[in-house]
Formats: sequence, C-alpha cells, structure tokens
Amino acid sequence: MAKKFACSDVVSGCSWSTMAKDEADLFHKISEHAKHVHKMTTIPDEIIQKVKSQIQEI
Ligand SMILES: [Zn+2]
Repeated sequence: MAKKFACSDVVSGCSWSTMAKDEADLFHKISEHAKHVHKMTTIPDEIIQKVKSQIQEI
C-alpha cells in the first residue's frame, strides 16, 4: 500500500508533502527534503518517531 506524508504535520508552516510506494521509499524522500529544506544532515530519532506517527496509507 502506498504511503503519504505531509511535512506540516511535524514542521508547522512547511507546505511540502510527498507520497511513495512504501515506507522505505517515503523515508528516503523525507530525508532528502529534511536535508535540503530544513538543514537536517541527520534526522533526530524523535523526529523520525513523529514522522512515523503521521504517515498515512493511501
Ligand atoms: Zn518540510
């Protein structure tokens, strides 16, 4: 099942969202976005947990 994620669920004010075929692909896209837009070279564990709780199946 495909997954989607809206960044505004974790970072208020960010309008970016994405979808992917599975969670691994989704996390790849999220980490690229976090690196380039939010300047997170590594994503803190607490952010990963927040992201996981906000992932929706579509
Ligand atoms: Zn964002």
